[in-house]
Amino acid sequence: TARVAEKWVKTTCGYCSVGCGMLVGVKDGKAVAARGNPDHPVNLGKLCPKGLSEHHVLDAPGRATQPLLRKDGKLVPVSWDEALDVMVEKFTGIQAKYGREALGVVGTGQLLTEDTYTLGKLVQLGFGTRNNDGNTTLCMASAVSGYKLSFGSDGPPGSYADMQAADVILLIGANIADNHPILCHRLDRTNRKGEMKLIVVDPRVTKTAMMADIHLPVKPRSDIALINGIAHVLIRDGLVSHDYIAAHTDDYAEFATFVEQFTPKHVAAVTGLSEARIVEVAHLYGNAKAAFIGWTMGVNHSTQGAMTVAAINNLALITGHIGRGGAAPFSITGQCNAMGTRETGFTSSLPGYRKYENAEHREELARLWGIDVDRIPSARGMAYPDIIEGAVAGKIKALWFVATNPVVSFPNFSVLDQALRSVEFLVVQDGFHPTPTSDYAHLVLPAAIWGEKEGTYTNSERRVSKVNAIVTPPGEARPDFDIFLAIAERLGVRDELYPGWTTTADAFREWQRVSAGRMCDYSGFTWQQLEDEGGAQWGGERLYADGVFPTATGRAKLHCVPCLPFAEQPDGEYNFVLNTGRTVEHWHTRTKTANIEMLDTMVPQAWLEMNPVDAAQLKLKAHDRVTVVSRRSAVNNLELRITGIVAPGQVFMPFHFSETNSNLVTLGAFDPISREPNFKQCAVRVEKF
Ligand code: SF4
Repeated sequence: TARVAEKWVKTTCGYCSVGCGMLVGVKDGKAVAARGNPDHPVNLGKLCPKGLSEHHVLDAPGRATQPLLRKDGKLVPVSWDEALDVMVEKFTGIQAKYGREALGVVGTGQLLTEDTYTLGKLVQLGFGTRNNDGNTTLCMASAVSGYKLSFGSDGPPGSYADMQAADVILLIGANIADNHPILCHRLDRTNRKGEMKLIVVDPRVTKTAMMADIHLPVKPRSDIALINGIAHVLIRDGLVSHDYIAAHTDDYAEFATFVEQFTPKHVAAVTGLSEARIVEVAHLYGNAKAAFIGWTMGVNHSTQGAMTVAAINNLALITGHIGRGGAAPFSITGQCNAMGTRETGFTSSLPGYRKYENAEHREELARLWGIDVDRIPSARGMAYPDIIEGAVAGKIKALWFVATNPVVSFPNFSVLDQALRSVEFLVVQDGFHPTPTSDYAHLVLPAAIWGEKEGTYTNSERRVSKVNAIVTPPGEARPDFDIFLAIAERLGVRDELYPGWTTTADAFREWQRVSAGRMCDYSGFTWQQLEDEGGAQWGGERLYADGVFPTATGRAKLHCVPCLPFAEQPDGEYNFVLNTGRTVEHWHTRTKTANIEMLDTMVPQAWLEMNPVDAAQLKLKAHDRVTVVSRRSAVNNLELRITGIVAPGQVFMPFHFSETNSNLVTLGAFDPISREPNFKQCAVRVEKF
């Protein structure tokens, strides 16, 4: 097929946050092939199975192609004019009746940065509600909060190149072989100058754990104890950098006293590891010339996610493993543009990582936009889980979901179901219909997807990359950006908020002005340069090289992080700890990948992993169909895999599948700081189906 492509369009993968550069072959106006861009600095021509088949998504069945409005209980096709008139009339009517904040909006890390920036202004300055968040709160909010706690700002300090420069890599709760596969070549030992030790902390023997020199199969949620235990050994054995601590951190004395209790003996009891292993890993980390810590959802998906990130940052700070080549505490982001969502704001921060509570920041934004400063709020509105709980409580009366599918991705489905049924008007804007969420909608807006619109994504290493339109959207589907401008027009704010704008390039230009001088400064980039050079990193290759942090003192803060038991412990009735995760072939709720034959054929259904000891006790055999039951509900008809990959007392299932929705059983417990859900542990029992 590649040979028959008439032209190849440069773009960036629209799935995960690795941000691979790719070339999509086009023939007769259709995308016919995809291959890695050999000149792209992130992936050097490599793509994972999702990237290699991504062109198929542009031809996939199941696309939303016309606006649908619920009339007499049924979704029926209507014109765009009618759809948007009704949406604005309903939203503003509900706001007039119940107050402006009766509207909640949930966006996504799948949108372009230009889309997200435009949407933020529309929600806050057009509709006038603060209740705006992204599905990124389900994956990255704890990393954001943890960085703010330690360093005073969000922003991953390192780069992928640091993975190749480090002599010790510690991955915590990060199964990159499945979830960020193209990062794995950074672990390749063949072209390294020196030795590299890979240490993987994960309760499950993941593909990534199998690549490790040392796998630490900790008991669920005992990661904080391990991290504090490493800090204890580092201090006890003189492996900290007193120069770095004195020059660049606050609260060391208190921290050192706090971790005294995390002796190897105590940590061994909590984690299930041996004392010798804990000391060995601490020594490896402390003696490294440059040590890199990467983490993903195993850390973030916790009621203590933000503080776990702060604990990780503690290790980097007390050893000075930060701001140098190979040395970074590095959050590996989830979605292709989770970073863009974080930077453009009106979620947990104002645009450009400005702070709600900072009057100067609000005044600066008001000046840049030529608006009254009173229109910029001094505190954030509801985070995503609070919007859902607000709907159940009757505070949120209208909801707008943009490119997200919470029926499969949000924890504890029964509460979400109640929320979706409670609101007076629900709009679902998506590239696909029906989806489990669009089935609830009063109004479905058909949107263009990756490959049908132009703008930028920012990946985990702060690399801003160009995304191009390859084909036109099907039917009447429109780019999200066009939909936002058409809504602004109806609200009478288009000229004020988006003066003279017609394309996402206009949004990018304004965002450059608004981000100028901020940490996430886009002002020096041009779209052409981003396309030609495989993107560019805001902040350069690494942050904090000078040891100066954006805090009041200019120094980073060390935090005392207690290790608390996770929210729902197993007992006699619900005797297993359920862990959830992903597989390389699928993306999130499979809205796209279930419609790509190659990927769906490889992994057509979910499964449950159980240790042989437990299976024998329950008299279950491989391939039995089983039911997973929690205090909330049950997931039926899962194929049983009996494997030592999971420890006795633990079971694992992937979350992608709506037919066997893991979120029927997961717990609605959230981090009090980041509001991120605790997807990773809940108590279940397993029965034969
Ligand atoms: Fe796309 Fe991520 Fe795969 Fe790269 S690793 S091809 S960015 S899904």
